[in-house]
Amino acid sequence: MRKIYLDHGATTPVDKKVLAAMMPYFSDKFGNAMSIHNFGSVANEAVEKSRKQTADFFGAQPEEMIFTSGATESNNLVVKGVLNAYYFTPKALGAQHEGIERHRVPSRPHIITTAFEHHCVLDSCKEVEKEGLAEVTYIKPNKDGIIKVEDIKKAIKSNTILVSVMYVNNEIGTVQSIAEIGNLLRNTKKIRNTKVRTKYPIFHTDATQAINYFDCNVDKFGVDLLSMSAHKIYGPKGIGALYIRKGTPIKRVQDGGGQENNKRAGTHNVPGIVGLGAAMELVKKEKVKGKSILEIRNYLIERVLKEIPQAKLNGSKIKRSPNNANFSFKNVEGESLLMMLDMEGIAASTGSACTSGNLEPSHVLMSLGMKHEDAHGSLRLTLGKSTTKKEIDYTVNKLKKIVEKIRKVSGKVLEEYYSKK
Ligand code: PMP
Repeated sequence: MRKIYLDHGATTPVDKKVLAAMMPYFSDKFGNAMSIHNFGSVANEAVEKSRKQTADFFGAQPEEMIFTSGATESNNLVVKGVLNAYYFTPKALGAQHEGIERHRVPSRPHIITTAFEHHCVLDSCKEVEKEGLAEVTYIKPNKDGIIKVEDIKKAIKSNTILVSVMYVNNEIGTVQSIAEIGNLLRNTKKIRNTKVRTKYPIFHTDATQAINYFDCNVDKFGVDLLSMSAHKIYGPKGIGALYIRKGTPIKRVQDGGGQENNKRAGTHNVPGIVGLGAAMELVKKEKVKGKSILEIRNYLIERVLKEIPQAKLNGSKIKRSPNNANFSFKNVEGESLLMMLDMEGIAASTGSACTSGNLEPSHVLMSLGMKHEDAHGSLRLTLGKSTTKKEIDYTVNKLKKIVEKIRKVSGKVLEEYYSKK
């Protein structure tokens, strides 16, 4: 049976070049990067090479990059680590203490994020809110999946210490105005204290879904913290990074060894780190064929909207990642759609992979103000660098028949169910 992979938002295959770069570090060059003997320095050299490759991509300094196990960890570290630094006993903080004290805000700290962040940001925020460590404002996107910068401006208070807005949404692919938000926060930092530029509010962006297609220069955008993950960019799973602008108050949440500039303890995943660096280099070289993916993706959207009745594209068509299409089909249940597509060899998703198995409709689609029934019948197709027009033709032809079949079997039942709700 034909196999078509249209779930690159969930993960991507490791590029053969990336795999080749990683291979020696599993067995031949297996040293611990912290060991002082030759085996250790060979591993350490590879780690530092990757750190430079990664930093270069973001226009950052190597010492501003730390490696983590992925974007989930990076995002947890952002929310909890910023608070950890804020509350940390000044005495133990030594030389940094003075700086942090100076930047303290007068009351319980405040965090601003959005209602459609990935769960690792949202749940971290909910956790610190529940513990009474911070108050959190969740900004809702408009119906096109765009956060209005004005809404962030209005939400900023004198005690706001962190603003976290994702660059590209993982479900609907909409792109946020990171440069404008960065500018707003730069000005806020200046206004707060004209003599000593305060470090707060810190600006964080989860750029996990942006790396392949968008400029991620941290200085251009005024970003203080940036999260990413290798497995979305043709690198391995279980490795990611966090950019930390020099001087940003953030304290580690995982204790142990002194790795990663004391920001993240744990033996380095050397093959993974090498893979991440190689994947970053490759994105830079190939720019992941954004233009041709965009053409094929637009072709997909046009065909679906034209040929399938009562189909709707979720999220802005323009401010959107070139590889993402997210549809709703009236009176069609998303899980059935996925299963039937899978039986035809087509891999897709509804919501994000992390929430599948969860029958609640996607929090992303609900945040756009969609109705329960429309949010339930959603389908995310995310293209990659190997996707062809032929694959899209095959997919749309199958999709048309599947939607029709589901509507025949269960459409009436669903329609009645929702009309009574
Ligand atoms: N943030 C976003 C926007 C994501 O798409 C993902 C992956 N679905 C994550 C965070 C979590 O990344 P990881 O799989 O590396 O933990």
